[in-house]
Amino acid sequence: MAKLPIVTVGDPVLEQRAEEVPKITKKVAKLIDDMLETMYEANGVGLAAPQVGVSQRIIVLDPGDGPVIIVNPVLNEASGEEIDVEGCLSIPERWVYVKRATEVEVTGLNEKGKPLRVQAEGLFARALQHEIDHLDGVLMLDRMLGEAEVVQVADEEMAEAEEVEAAEEGE
Ligand code: ZN
Repeated sequence: MAKLPIVTVGDPVLEQRAEEVPKITKKVAKLIDDMLETMYEANGVGLAAPQVGVSQRIIVLDPGDGPVIIVNPVLNEASGEEIDVEGCLSIPERWVYVKRATEVEVTGLNEKGKPLRVQAEGLFARALQHEIDHLDGVLMLDRMLGEAEVVQVADEEMAEAEEVEAAEEGE
């Protein structure tokens, strides 16, 4: 496996419609492995092939309980809607509000070329929609409702811990 460089906003590969994958060749299998490594190294929830400069319809995700690989993904069903904050490995240091469906069903092929059906909700559903958008040349900036300011979680926890300490001292 190898970590691949992540393409950032402004590169035309992020604005194109990616090609269907006709067959899972050895080259495709290696690309999938490399995409997983790249996603994990970058602490991302998902990664689409155009983000590593390859205009093919492949996405990898990990919603928190292991890798999910979908080749030629199709969004079949989407219901509900929710506005929440999103980030993108190709758009560093920016978080924006995007409206997404809360529940989706996606079909496609797994890394062995076998049919796959994924039902997802919440963050996983959001990530699937974000990654499939990449395959159509759509970025979160095209859908953004506004810029979000995100305080680092670590800082928040630190502030809370300090408040607790201060409160205890006051007793
Ligand atoms: Zn993205």
